Amino acid sequence: MRPEILNPLFCSIDTLKGIGSRYFKLVSNLIGGAKISDLLFHLPYNLIDRTYSCQINKIETGKIWTGLVTINEHIEPKTKKQPYRIICSDETGDIILNFFKYYKDSLKKQLPVCSKKIISGKTEFFNGQIQISHPDYISDQSNADFIKTIEPVYPLTSGVSNKMMRTLMYQALLKLPDFDEWLDEKFKKEQNFLTFKESLMKVHNPVSADDLNPTSKVRQRLAYDELLANQLTLSLARRYHKKKEGRSICSKGLLKEKLLKILGFELTSAQQKVLKDIFNDQKSNYQGLRLIQGDVGSGKTVVAMISMLNAVEAGYQAALMAPTEILAKQHLETIGAWAEQIGIKVELLTSKIKGKKRTEILEKLKNGQTDILIGTHALFTDEVIFKDLAFIVVDEQHRFGVEQRLKLSQKGNKPDIVVMTATPIPRTLVLTRFGDMDYSKIDELPKGRKPVITKVMPVSKTTDVVRALKRKIENGARAYWVCPLIEESEKSDLAAAIARFEDLQKHFGDIVGLVHGKMKEDQKDAVMEKFKNGEIKILVATTVIEVGVNIRQATLMIIERAERFGLSQLHQLRGRIKRGYEEGVCLLLYGYPLSQTAHERLNVMKESEDGFYLAEKDLDLRGGGEILGTKQSGFEEFKLANLEFHKNLLLTAYKDAELILAKDPELKSKRGQALKVLLYLFEQDSAFLTYKA
Ligand code: ADP
Ligand code: MG
Repeated sequence: MRPEILNPLFCSIDTLKGIGSRYFKLVSNLIGGAKISDLLFHLPYNLIDRTYSCQINKIETGKIWTGLVTINEHIEPKTKKQPYRIICSDETGDIILNFFKYYKDSLKKQLPVCSKKIISGKTEFFNGQIQISHPDYISDQSNADFIKTIEPVYPLTSGVSNKMMRTLMYQALLKLPDFDEWLDEKFKKEQNFLTFKESLMKVHNPVSADDLNPTSKVRQRLAYDELLANQLTLSLARRYHKKKEGRSICSKGLLKEKLLKILGFELTSAQQKVLKDIFNDQKSNYQGLRLIQGDVGSGKTVVAMISMLNAVEAGYQAALMAPTEILAKQHLETIGAWAEQIGIKVELLTSKIKGKKRTEILEKLKNGQTDILIGTHALFTDEVIFKDLAFIVVDEQHRFGVEQRLKLSQKGNKPDIVVMTATPIPRTLVLTRFGDMDYSKIDELPKGRKPVITKVMPVSKTTDVVRALKRKIENGARAYWVCPLIEESEKSDLAAAIARFEDLQKHFGDIVGLVHGKMKEDQKDAVMEKFKNGEIKILVATTVIEVGVNIRQATLMIIERAERFGLSQLHQLRGRIKRGYEEGVCLLLYGYPLSQTAHERLNVMKESEDGFYLAEKDLDLRGGGEILGTKQSGFEEFKLANLEFHKNLLLTAYKDAELILAKDPELKSKRGQALKVLLYLFEQDSAFLTYKA
């Protein structure tokens, strides 16, 4: 149960005055939630000083002025170009309010002659007269204090004014309770932190630009609280998994021997090292949960297979989950072929498979005839019952969250889990997102891989490219043609791909195919199949081919408008033509205008084939908003913390969380109780409840 003290913050924002159903939608979209706490975590990014207030005859023009005036006269415009004017005054002089867009009636109602009003806005001098056009505030005297301050400026959306946000925020701040301190008192002193409540109040009432800085004390405190909640959850999860009894799984390795004989290559030492880590997880008495990072082409599939074989030989079942049907099928082909030679049973299960076939597959799974089940997330619906599932591999799904991993670990009979990804993950992200897992890296590519030759050239060379492509295709090559990614609009994305497809068809005829994200899964499959068997030799594609697709015969790749992609994404794409032992060629075609930074970025692609290096460079060279394809990097997962500035706090929070739980694993002490409130406040409670068990 959520601690009662939090109830006011978990109320809906529609309990605030002045929000109504129209604003409710706009505001909750803006702040990413509908609770008072969501509102309070929406922080200002700028400020406007409205404290300048003097008698009218002393006003300096160009400044934002706030003052009390008497309304004297309304002057309606004589021509359309003139503004509606309202003459106001104090004891020293007149000031004119101009309205170019207005409703006469509402102005008359809002500013009746003889009334006194607080006005705030930018002053200007025109026709010998001090004036304000469209004042920011027109209000009753009673609101003077609210207006005559340094005003925080919030990120807004069309239809929601800053005034609106402030009015809501003002009410929301009143609901902030006094929490028992959850930080270590000594640490709080050392850091010069205020309490959570004081910090949040100050953040919403900045007095100088310093207060907006992510490294200000108040913002650091809030960031720390959020990071601590995150690290506590992960630490709880880690302890939970370590404590959770699993089964000790160990085989003689006969199946592994058999597989190695038919593979025709030796495992790299990196693959062997990672396999050892997995075998240890399997052998130990707790439930293993491990993240495996290995660059494209580092050979993760074999590692998955060998560790599944270990479970199978020991008499259990294993499952492999892929993110899409195409990839699941591809795994079935590779793994199915190996399995057949070794003499074990593999099945594929996707949501597409229905009726009698499905019943059959489920039956065989339940009675243990199937050793390895491959599929999409449909694998883990309730109807899928294993006889004795002991090992799960999740392929290319690093975006899988803590809770999803937890659900998975509850499938089968205490299975060990391995999550594999080709995405280079920075250390901070390993800590925040995967902190509940152990981590291994396949840090070596198989020997003998030919590098990909990468060339950077302008799109104006497309005709030459097509000519060269013709020669290559005649010599038996197969090529991917990747079309630009336009995030704002999937439609134009698609239109570009279709246009390119039609254009290439004119040159090459039937041997050109097209795949894109809007196609049905089986349509995509059919095209991929044709590309694989050679009926199609040029495959025009959007980024659907990015992850895991494995067609060894394809050695050419042309990426159109390459400057629109992130380096990591280009790397993943290019990885598609690095599967075999033939030299690949990758052409990066850029459009104009190309900035200096963008040019540099593309050139980095010529230099390196190291995913980690490229990911780092990608961050270094990221010109403001230049790259469209980087949103998926997933850095923006916190509301108050920003890892660009708060990395050190993250490391401290990590240690803090470990210490807290070492001393007080069930959060029973006084500080423990306060920390529980913190977990609920940042909605980390469901994890806590599960991991407590
Ligand atoms: P990824 O890690 O990108 O999923 P894959 O597992 O698909 O990579 O492997 C890429 C290719 O490398 C496959 O054709 C695979 O058979 C081959 N491969 C894997 N391990 C080795 C190795 N140790 N030596 C040579 N080739 C290997
Ligand atoms: Mg793979």
